[in-house]
Amino acid sequence: MVIRNIRVIDPADKTDCIKDVFIKDGRIADPLDPAADNDPDIIDGTGLIAGPGLVDVHVHFRDPGQTHKEDIHTGALSSVAGGFTSVVMMANTDPVIDDPSIVKDVLRRASEEPLHIYTCASVTKGLGGKELCDHKALLEAGAAGFTDDGKPIVDADVLRRAFSGIAKLNVPVSLHEEDPAYISENGVNSGSAAESLGLKGSDRMAEITMVRRDIEIAKETGVILNIQHISCAESVEAVRCAKREYPSIHAEATPHHFTLTDNAVSEFGTLAKMNPPLRKSEDREAIWEGLADGTIDLIATDHAPHSADEKSREFEKAPSGITGLETSFLLAYSTLYKRDIVDLNRLFELMSLNPAKLYGLNAGTLRIGAPADIMIFSPDESTVYETSRSRSSNTPFLGRTFEGKIRYTIAAGRIVYSS
Ligand SMILES: [Zn+2]
Repeated sequence: MVIRNIRVIDPADKTDCIKDVFIKDGRIADPLDPAADNDPDIIDGTGLIAGPGLVDVHVHFRDPGQTHKEDIHTGALSSVAGGFTSVVMMANTDPVIDDPSIVKDVLRRASEEPLHIYTCASVTKGLGGKELCDHKALLEAGAAGFTDDGKPIVDADVLRRAFSGIAKLNVPVSLHEEDPAYISENGVNSGSAAESLGLKGSDRMAEITMVRRDIEIAKETGVILNIQHISCAESVEAVRCAKREYPSIHAEATPHHFTLTDNAVSEFGTLAKMNPPLRKSEDREAIWEGLADGTIDLIATDHAPHSADEKSREFEKAPSGITGLETSFLLAYSTLYKRDIVDLNRLFELMSLNPAKLYGLNAGTLRIGAPADIMIFSPDESTVYETSRSRSSNTPFLGRTFEGKIRYTIAAGRIVYSS
């Protein structure tokens, strides 16, 4: 296959130039290779942008256990529609991914999908926050990293022992940072947003105190720590300071936290309920700064499907989380790139190269020899987000018109999505 005359963004080389991209045997090929195809399929890339296929290291495919919300197959369909060619699933399934046999089962089923699907295993047995899993055995079974995402690890001694062990395995621990001691009701920011619903909500101290504690334990143990879905200005600042002396601290921002503020609950109700909650506009601006200056390393969706039934319950009883794979790049493009917060190289660094590096995935570049995982974007068209490929459609962005359009997703040299 050849993609002709396309603007290629490669964050690994910081390149931004118009050229032809050659694909052979599932890899980016050298145009001078005499073995290159004589009669290739051609995509005309005029006016389009090609970047490395997107990588999302924080998705919930609800499989096994809650496949009425999503399963690995529908999660895969949603991923490629959003330009993603690699994703890392979280471990809070039912049963929890805390045993090598479950890791092997989900990876075997994931291998039938046309993109690269990895999984985390949990830090503690059953996400109970008490008993540590056998991390070495889980890693040998194929886990890409460890997380109790969905549940904070409250007991500092448990966390410290987990970090000490995982530090030797050289894979990241990704943490959901919300101390329940500061939370009256989940999913809405304390202050005016919670009050408008007659609730006390989730205080920002829930995140700030845990982020600070866990940075200290990470520094002490030498573990690679990834702070998930960062939401408060103070947490961003804590990560910024920590990185100066300890570069193995990383942070993710979600598209909803860099796009919306806590006002959204009055407009969207439970569709704006997530953990940690949407915060103030000052927090959103701190996230923009962190994304621009390198404090926040990556964008991850926290794609969290829930059924319409569950989300139609009253606020307190509805589950937290929104879907995000299909709108992640479109939101990043409009919120971050169009506002000049990041350039296109940084955007693909945040959405492809850096998440791949964190989890040690072979992705994130379009260099010759790299896997031919490519997303092709049309900046001059628009997208009306009318139907979700996910089994669920719990997102405040359904019905919205976005600038730009994802035209092709290519994984391992095959077109797996086009529009
Ligand atoms: Zn999550």
